[in-house]
Amino acid sequence: MASIPVFNSIALGDNPAHEASPVQKAALTAFGLGLLAALVALFSDLGAAYPILMLSLVGALVIGGPLVYFWDEYRHRPPGIKNDGIMFSSNMARGLVGWTLGIVLTGGYVLLYWFPATLDGLIRVVDPLSYTLTGNPANQWFLYGTIYTVAVVVMGVRAILKYRHSRYQIIRTLSVMFFQLFLAFLIPQLLVLFNQPEFYFSYFWPLKYDYLWPGTIDYLTDASALGYFMAFWGAAMIFVATPILTYFFGKRWYCSWVCGCGGLAETAGDPYRHLSDKSLGAWKVERWMIHSVLVFVVVTTALLWINSATEGGVFGGLSQSFSKWYGFGIGLVFSGVVGVGFYPLMGSRVWCRFGCPMAAILGMQQRLFSRFRITTNGGQCISCGNCSTYCEMGIDVRWYAQRGQSIIRSSCVGCGICSAVCPRGVLSLENGPREGRFGAPTLNLIKDLDILDAPGIDGPAERPTARV
Ligand code: SF4
Ligand code: SF4
Repeated sequence: MASIPVFNSIALGDNPAHEASPVQKAALTAFGLGLLAALVALFSDLGAAYPILMLSLVGALVIGGPLVYFWDEYRHRPPGIKNDGIMFSSNMARGLVGWTLGIVLTGGYVLLYWFPATLDGLIRVVDPLSYTLTGNPANQWFLYGTIYTVAVVVMGVRAILKYRHSRYQIIRTLSVMFFQLFLAFLIPQLLVLFNQPEFYFSYFWPLKYDYLWPGTIDYLTDASALGYFMAFWGAAMIFVATPILTYFFGKRWYCSWVCGCGGLAETAGDPYRHLSDKSLGAWKVERWMIHSVLVFVVVTTALLWINSATEGGVFGGLSQSFSKWYGFGIGLVFSGVVGVGFYPLMGSRVWCRFGCPMAAILGMQQRLFSRFRITTNGGQCISCGNCSTYCEMGIDVRWYAQRGQSIIRSSCVGCGICSAVCPRGVLSLENGPREGRFGAPTLNLIKDLDILDAPGIDGPAERPTARV
């Protein structure tokens, strides 16, 4: 008798839930064992007693497990986002796993900032790496930098495998991996090894808020000749390079290609990008919050310089209070605890969208005088909504696409995912002439139908040609 096939689902389409392969199960087991080894180190002296053994064990399992898993996962799947049951995922749809991860992440930040002694067992595990790079034992910031960099690199490999059909995504992901690994991790540590100030060449004021504060400038210029260059670099990047690069490329040159916060969002935060709030209310809150933070850091910086120039005669206590509260409220709580801890609950760009003063400056420049825009070939749009769903900045991209209107939004970080997930090739990230950027919607079905796209009928819509 012929056997009757058994289906797990009565859905007409393919069942979105899929079974992990034996390779994936082995990789997940390895990752779980790595986390277990890290937990054992946290609550014991094993890290201090056998640092090289523990570092090798934890590192191999925690890095190797996910890499094998992603390789096996994506080599069997077509590239890109396929809406394959993502909203049924406990991890990616604010289910039990997502909430648990959010609590663990926020809890980890609280321990890191305010109770670092509780992490000592784990800090000792990275001692061998710290001695190699800096010549000193590790502290909580070295542990944090190591975990952060590993997350960007490992999840960056995942992003490259996932978006392998898009050259833009591959190069952009390689870029954030490079800047995090070298400029935000290895070079600052090596500077310490050579008795130079620990300096992050890929972070600028006001994101790295104290890089233009008088205390930091004094510290750098007192340290060495290289310190003078660092102080000059910090000022030149925000006041000279930033407007020029934003004019040519929009804010994407920084937010999606260089910045460490953006790098983490684009890699480790990618599974959660669809959780960003797209409502009008969220947009209103976003505008108020991000510009308030910008005002806060500008006022704080001005007060500190006035205080420094008058040697404490004016705004002495006030400037200290401002800087203290900015460092605590924005630098620690908002950018760290909320900014990363809330990935599984509010999407991957909570900090970039609602709090980052650097994003606020770049956004104003992008909207007012940049050549960057996303053009839309509206006649091809089938209103599937992929673009809006996966926009991590909460922009309703489909609204523009349906009208054939270019997208010029100060919040757009130019990640390009909307374009990468569009099944109809409607969206193009372009750097064109500024003239006509804010033109009326260009939707014209005659123009958008290739079959009629012939001289004498109605020529093709004018489009900027420079594509990046
Ligand atoms: S509109 Fe597109 S490029 Fe801009 S942030 Fe959203 S997904 Fe990224
Ligand atoms: S622009 Fe593309 S992804 Fe967005 S709604 Fe239209 S067809 Fe779908």
